[in-house]
Amino acid sequence: MTIALSFPPTTETVMSWTVHVQQRDPQDRTRGIGAEHSSTHLAAARAVRHHIAHTADHVLVTRVVEHTRVVTTRSIELADLPGPGQPTPPPAVPDGAYQALRHYRFLRCGPYALLNPDAVRHWHEQAEHNPYIRRELLRLLEVTTVRYQRSVVPRNLPACPCCTP
Ligand SMILES: [Zn+2]
Repeated sequence: MTIALSFPPTTETVMSWTVHVQQRDPQDRTRGIGAEHSSTHLAAARAVRHHIAHTADHVLVTRVVEHTRVVTTRSIELADLPGPGQPTPPPAVPDGAYQALRHYRFLRCGPYALLNPDAVRHWHEQAEHNPYIRRELLRLLEVTTVRYQRSVVPRNLPACPCCTP
């Protein structure tokens, strides 16, 4: 029995920022020296101001990079997958993007990312032996992730309430 549970594609945009810095030169503190280090990904634009404010004594900011990840998820059928041994068809890289990747997963079930059609089929076959999974309810999803990045000017970012100048 197959239960049709179709739903429209969804697109989610996730943004983050990294702050790239150099140590301040002890002789000339307006100058950076040594290797460039980057912060972890900051999930809020105002956290960038906060991060800069709290490290300004030691480091000079060389650049701030805004990272955008656009994740499009659509429902497909097992029959839509490429045949055995075939790779995952690479998505087109849109203008301005630097990377586009595709993987598969099942809705609310199984591993977060199945990297190729064979992995999808293998997991689906194994699920037959799992008493907690009703295979007829499984929905296969194709997930396309497109990544963009650009440098931004820190003063154009929203202020952090705790460290307004
Ligand atoms: Zn702050």
